[in-house]
Amino acid sequence: RELVVSFGEMLIDFVPTVAGVSLAEAPAFVKAPGGAPANVAIAVARLGGGAAFVGKLGDDEFGRMLAKILRDNGVDAGGVVFDSGARTALAFVTLRADGEREFMFYRNPSADMLLTADELKVDVIKRAAVFHYGSISLIAEPCRTAHLHAMKVAKEAGALLSYDPNLREALWPSLEEARTKILSIWDQADIVKVSEVELEFLTGINSVEDDVAMKLWRPTFKLMLVTLGDQGCKYYTKDFRGTVPSYKVQQVDTTGAGDAFIGSLLRKIVQDPSALQDKTKLEGAIKFANACGAITATKKGAIPSLPKEDEVLRLMEKA
Ligand code: ATP
Repeated sequence: RELVVSFGEMLIDFVPTVAGVSLAEAPAFVKAPGGAPANVAIAVARLGGGAAFVGKLGDDEFGRMLAKILRDNGVDAGGVVFDSGARTALAFVTLRADGEREFMFYRNPSADMLLTADELKVDVIKRAAVFHYGSISLIAEPCRTAHLHAMKVAKEAGALLSYDPNLREALWPSLEEARTKILSIWDQADIVKVSEVELEFLTGINSVEDDVAMKLWRPTFKLMLVTLGDQGCKYYTKDFRGTVPSYKVQQVDTTGAGDAFIGSLLRKIVQDPSALQDKTKLEGAIKFANACGAITATKKGAIPSLPKEDEVLRLMEKA
């Protein structure tokens, strides 16, 4: 049983054809399929692992295109359902010249938000060795209830639960609600991953010191990760902890780096779950995940940048 089942949103980012412009200045946009949970599923499959995606798309050209992208990338799309009344979510996104990311979401509501607990393909979820999710699916009903039910089904079937909140402030009614709802399912996870920004958001403290990260630690966790961009990441388990540096690369676009990181780490964990109790094995798996994140940061877009295993091993050997 090595399947990673990823739950949540898949959407299309529309990205300006030229760099460093505001959304209003952009002359034209290209389609970039994404959605963190979908990226994670594809990251796993790209490495040769078993992956499935569970979520809802619009029964429209874009929704069918996204389902085909999953299948073409070797992801089991049996957990995808289509909504005949709502559109596939869209997001216009740009990295402006001032370095700020600007988002504009079309979710009013989009199909992913309308997934109900009844529509969940529980047979797919029950096959999971790891069940992975974010927090965007917690924002609105009925998807929130579906998300909570899916976690319960996965846990009862013996899966490890993996949580990468992937904070998108603009999607929440308020920051307070974001913090409360993200933390409302915190204790149920076995594996959690946060970025530096999310660590600060959730703790209210601008520091990546161990004592700050430990505020998010729970005794039932098997692994907690704090990603640090080009600095690699910190990790925490019940018995040991450490920092694993990343690889030196020419950064072009970090979109999807976090998804490549967690997807590849989950791939390693389902292949050898004993890594969660073995410092040497775990650090080896994290090194591999850092290399996957690093490679993804060297290319534009998320899905096209996710590496195959040979590319990862080449970077690791070169270093
Ligand atoms: P995202 O930008 O997708 O939300 P994130 O903030 O969760 O990602 P990052 O910390 O940006 O995650 O990246 C995840 C991992 O990828 C890092 O822990 C690191 O191992 C690797 N990585 C990302 N950017 C770089 C880089 N420029 N050089 C080397 N490694 C990188």
